[in-house]
Amino acid sequence: MSATPRIDLHTHSTASDGTLSPVELVRAAAESGLGVVAITDHDTTAGWAPALEALPTGLTLVRGAEISCRWYGEEPAVSLHLLAYLFDPDAPELVAELTRVRAAREERGERIVTLLRADGVDVSWPEILAGAGGGTVGRPHIAQALIRAGLVATTTEAFGPDWLGERYRLPKEDIDVFHAVRLVRAAGGVPVFAHPRATRRGRIVPDELIADLAATGLAGLEADHEDHSPAERAHVRALADELGLLVTGSSDFHGTHKTVRLGAFTTHPEAYERIIAEASGVTGAASG
Ligand code: AMP
Ligand code: FE
Ligand code: FE
Ligand code: ZN
Repeated sequence: MSATPRIDLHTHSTASDGTLSPVELVRAAAESGLGVVAITDHDTTAGWAPALEALPTGLTLVRGAEISCRWYGEEPAVSLHLLAYLFDPDAPELVAELTRVRAAREERGERIVTLLRADGVDVSWPEILAGAGGGTVGRPHIAQALIRAGLVATTTEAFGPDWLGERYRLPKEDIDVFHAVRLVRAAGGVPVFAHPRATRRGRIVPDELIADLAATGLAGLEADHEDHSPAERAHVRALADELGLLVTGSSDFHGTHKTVRLGAFTTHPEAYERIIAEASGVTGAASG
């Protein structure tokens, strides 16, 4: 590893809604010059083992996940994503919650398809499920079916208001965010709020909630992310400073389901070291 490794702490593989397998992901990370990469698939740790096994020399893998959470302080409840690093993947309560969320995602996906079909849109749930290949199912998989059917040209278009962004958007049964922060910490993991000010993705939570989460055990905030404007990034940094939270920057790479490239945003080594120091779930980060 070079003296100042490039660190990307938010990426997805085919274990959820990315398009590179975990093996391809770690190889692509090494090829793009990263020194550290985190695999953070939605609500699953299924990509950890194959990624670890294929880890190229010189690359450090941070095992993580992006947990689907909800804040119930507003009606309707606000959806948010919690990145969790280096937690014990066998912690029973956390495993049970992730299993429940994955099952709920399948039910919700099937309901979205039912709504689409009721409007005459020819998409097939079994085909979409097969397209997810056993990974955590999400709207990007349904987006691919809309593209195959020639109804939209791109994933971005499929997330527009006429499709999965609004008209055919259904809520998931996520984990209460306070419960999730506690479960991640109890499993020795380090929780970081993903893209907390991404207004372009939907409703966001107030800063007071972030302060409450910090008091509950939240470790950091993701500031540099393509869904944050420069002003939003600056706001997140200032808030993290005020609350004593660490700050990350990451690509949120999803392969061809998004246009962002690996390492498009990176995390400062000091913040990374803090994550490593606070983690006790799985032994540190693994190096190839
Ligand atoms: P879901 O987890 O099923 O609610 O789907 C949300 C996922 O869709 C996110 O994790 C992103 O990977 C992806 N996504 C959200 N908005 C967009 C967008 N505008 N374009 C492409 N992918 C998106
Ligand atoms: Fe995703
Ligand atoms: Fe996310
Ligand atoms: Zn993500």
